[in-house]
Amino acid sequence: MSASQQRLFGTNGVRFVPGVTHDLDFVIRLAEAVGTYFGEGEVLLGQDGRSSSPALANAAVSGLMSSGRDVAETGVVPTPALQYAVKAMGFKGGVMITASHNPPQYNGIKVVGQDGVEVPRLDEQRIEKIFFDRSQSKADWKSIGVARQEPSVVRAYNSAIASRVNPKPIVERKFTVVMDLGNGAQCIAAPYLVEGLGCKLITLNSIIDGAFPGRGPEPTPATLGELSQAVRSVGADLGVAYDGDGDRSIFCDETGKILWGDQSGCLIADYLMERNPDSTVVTTVSSTQAIEAVAKKRGGKVIRTKVGSVDVSRTMIERRALLGFEENGGFLYSPHIPVRDGGMTTALMLECLAARGMAFSKSLAFSVPRFHQAKTKVEIDRRKTSQVMKAVEAQAKGEVERTDGLKIWADRKSWALVRPSGTEPIIRIFTESESQAQADSLLKKFVRVVKAASA
Ligand code: MG
Repeated sequence: MSASQQRLFGTNGVRFVPGVTHDLDFVIRLAEAVGTYFGEGEVLLGQDGRSSSPALANAAVSGLMSSGRDVAETGVVPTPALQYAVKAMGFKGGVMITASHNPPQYNGIKVVGQDGVEVPRLDEQRIEKIFFDRSQSKADWKSIGVARQEPSVVRAYNSAIASRVNPKPIVERKFTVVMDLGNGAQCIAAPYLVEGLGCKLITLNSIIDGAFPGRGPEPTPATLGELSQAVRSVGADLGVAYDGDGDRSIFCDETGKILWGDQSGCLIADYLMERNPDSTVVTTVSSTQAIEAVAKKRGGKVIRTKVGSVDVSRTMIERRALLGFEENGGFLYSPHIPVRDGGMTTALMLECLAARGMAFSKSLAFSVPRFHQAKTKVEIDRRKTSQVMKAVEAQAKGEVERTDGLKIWADRKSWALVRPSGTEPIIRIFTESESQAQADSLLKKFVRVVKAASA
C-alpha cells in the first residue's frame, strides 16, 4: 500500500457531514467494505443520539447485509458499551455510528475489532483499499445477511463495570454526584450505574437530543460552568460530564474546579498503581509529567504514544498495561476493556475517592504533584508545515522527543510540544512547567516561532 493512498479514516474513525460532504450511498459502500474486511460472522451495530444517526445506521445495516454479514442492532448506546458487547458477546466486529464530541451536523463511523478495540491503523488502510478499489463482496439472494435487534447491551455493560469495582466502600460513602450528560449517549447508562452504586444523583442535560442544546457535545473547562455551579450549590462530592458518545469523562472537584483529564487520570492511576505495583500506564506525549512522578512513587512504568486513543489502546494491549489515559478525559482500564470508557472511569473515580477517605480536592493534592500547563493552536498554510517544524527544531537546546511532533525540553521540568494537526491546517502547542508563568512564557515563545516561520 503506498503512502499516498487516499484516506477515509482520521484520528478516530471516519467523520463527515451527512447530506453535505457525503451522502447515504457513501455509508452503504463503506459498510460493504467493512463487511468484506470482517468476513464471515455477525456484526454488532450501534449508534449515538445524533439526528442523522438512525438514517446512517439503516444505511450501514444495508451495506453490511449486502456484503453477506448478519447484523445485530443495539439502537442508541454509548460507544464503550458497544465495544464491551462486541468483545463479551463474541461478535465478529462492531460498527458505531458516531461523531463523538463534534458539532451536531457531523457524524461518522467507527470500526471495532473482535477484541472490542478500534481496528489497528493498518486494517483501516485495508478497508480503505477495498473501498477505493471497489472490491466489496456482493452477496447474492441466498447469502445476503439478516438483521435482528440486540436489546441487552446497556444492562450487560453497566453490570460488567459494577463488577470491576469494590461497591461496599462506595455505597458506604453515600456520595452526592452531579452528572452533566450533555444530551449524549451516556444518558441511558451512566445514571443507572451511579445510582446502583448507592450515590445520590443530580443530572443536567439528561435527555438525548441530537442538537445538543445543553452545553454542546464536548466537555471542557470552558463548557462546564453549569456543572461547576451545581456542584457548589448542592454541596456535592464531585461532578462528572461526558462527551457526545460517552467515552470521555471530565471531572469537577467539590469546590467546583473542573479538571483536565490528565489530572483526574493521574489521581486514578495513583490509586490503581498503589494496589498493583509493577504495573504499566500508557499515555500520550501531550499529557502531564506528573504521571512519571506517580509511577516512580508506586514502582510502575510509563509508556508514551502518539496523540490518539487508538494508539493508546493498541499499545496497552502490546505492553500488557493496566491502564491508560489522555488529557482530553479519555481513561482506559484493561481488566474491563482497554478502550476509553466514561462509565468505567466514573466507577473507578468513586472507588478511588472512597478508598482515600478525603475530599476530592484533597485526594488530588495528596496523589498528584502539581504542574502548570498552557495550550493553544496557530493556523498555518499547510504547505509551510515542514519549514515551521524546522524553525521549531532550531530552538531546541536540550532533549527532543519525536514520538509525535516535537517535544522540546527547556529544562528538567519544562517542555513544549509542537504538533501539526492531522485533520486541520493548524499547529497545536502545549507547554508544561512547575510555574504557570514559565508555562505561559514557553507557549508565547513557540507561538512567535511558528507565526514567524509561517508568515
Ligand atoms: Mg467520544
